[in-house]
Amino acid sequence: MSKHFQFLDLPRKMPRELPVAVRLAGWQEIYGQFEQTGAAEQSARCLDCGNPYCEWKCPVHNYIPNWLKLVQEGRLFEAATLAHETNPLPEVCGRVCPQDRLCEGDCTLNDGFGAVTIGAVEKYIVDEAFRAGWRPDLSAVKKTGKRVAIIGAGPAGLSCADRLVRRGIEAHVFDRYEEIGGLLTFGIPPFKLEKEVIATRRQVLESMGVLFHLNTEIGRDIAFADLQRDYDAVFAGTGAYTSLDGGLTGRDLQGVTLALPFLIANARRLLGSGDANDPLLDLKGKRVVVLGGGDTAMDCVRTSVRLGAASVTCAYRRDEANMPGSRREVKNAKDEGVEFLFNRQPLSIRPRNSNGGSGQVGAVSVVETRLGAPDANGRQAAETVPGSESELAADIVILAFGFRPSPASWLAEHGVALESDGRIKLGPGLPYQTSNPKIFAGGDNVRGADLVVTAVHDGREAGNAIARMLLR
Ligand code: FAD
Ligand code: SF4
Repeated sequence: MSKHFQFLDLPRKMPRELPVAVRLAGWQEIYGQFEQTGAAEQSARCLDCGNPYCEWKCPVHNYIPNWLKLVQEGRLFEAATLAHETNPLPEVCGRVCPQDRLCEGDCTLNDGFGAVTIGAVEKYIVDEAFRAGWRPDLSAVKKTGKRVAIIGAGPAGLSCADRLVRRGIEAHVFDRYEEIGGLLTFGIPPFKLEKEVIATRRQVLESMGVLFHLNTEIGRDIAFADLQRDYDAVFAGTGAYTSLDGGLTGRDLQGVTLALPFLIANARRLLGSGDANDPLLDLKGKRVVVLGGGDTAMDCVRTSVRLGAASVTCAYRRDEANMPGSRREVKNAKDEGVEFLFNRQPLSIRPRNSNGGSGQVGAVSVVETRLGAPDANGRQAAETVPGSESELAADIVILAFGFRPSPASWLAEHGVALESDGRIKLGPGLPYQTSNPKIFAGGDNVRGADLVVTAVHDGREAGNAIARMLLR
């Protein structure tokens, strides 16, 4: 049988998935690694269909069929080099991209046969190449004497730095946190992305010449004007950190928390830089209700289960089909014992004692919803069903309604125009250049809260544009 029909003999197979009991006992990534044979076999399922929809759908347009072929042929280092041509953080995207909505969703085989396991192969290529000693080859790069300041060591900032040092431009990355990665380190929990992956990437970037200045907040520890003066260009990859709280009454009650402080506290505790006894993380035996239905909500419910909550319930105002997060993460949460209540809109957060006050949370009052007519974007609005109000008992309530950017005042003071919702506005000049020609921006602070892979795309393209401006 010709290789084009291998998918008929070889079903889609992910690397090993930890049994639920093992998952819940720790923080390990739940998916393992392919062996060389497994990676080659799964790669050989690619039809090489001539019009690679997967490549088009991937936001960084990875050369997917090409690196799948190199894996089949055992040419690991060439595959790693090719993977890095389009993606400065392939081992991260291979782990956390919602592949079911991106590359794998558009694989020709995702039509009953099972899509090629693109994300798992991408992760295999880079993890194994690093393990075998492969590193990006910058031996031919000549120093240009130019230097760029990058604010934010999240995926956008790191991708920008990668592209700049490959062009001989010094990249200085400043971050207020004690470790690089942005939300890769402090938001996304280790069961999706172990922090050793970021530590390895930090070593690789440092070996390429990227300079990190951590525990350094621009606007507090260093004035933005100093960066403007001392560097040839600035890239702002500062993310989106204003949490939406839904405006619910009772959100100030004890036991109610926003998603990000909760996840950051847990990330810091696991990294050893936080409070091991942080009261935010004391969920043992408690009933936790998480409000929201995106990736952040899924991370909160799965973290709560691991912290020993007695029960974890996720209430979401639309139905399952309309959840914005990855299908895979919803399934993982269900497997780990999370209860989902779809079509439930929160109305208020109630105190434990009926006389109210600023006491302890006791319940979330919800109303059932049904989906109405689709809006201009085709998304159906949730309408409430009169008379269907009820209460969900809760000792802890986590609000995971999303984020929006809150750009620092120094951006506007330096002539950077903003959109009315706080996102940084890009100018008409080079890609990712703002209205101040020396300042570029990308990732969540331009798009609003989005994805790792889109932040990687923006950082990559901004880095290329800055190099074009400085080296012409
Ligand atoms: P960030 O990752 O937020 O990085 C910004 C960095 O800038 C931070 O390190 C911050 O400390 C620093 N910074 C800000 N201001 C300053 C300053 N003044 N001085 C110095 N440093 C500063 N996406 C996925 O694709 N898959 C997922 O599974 C996924 N899960 C997620 C889970 C959670 C809980 C959250 C919150 C998001 C998740 N996302 C996921 C979204 C994804 O993490 C973000 O879209 C992505 O990290 C944005 O990258 P960024 O570089 O723009 O910003
Ligand atoms: Fe798929 Fe993301 Fe990798 Fe692109 S970067 S191939 S979307 S996993």
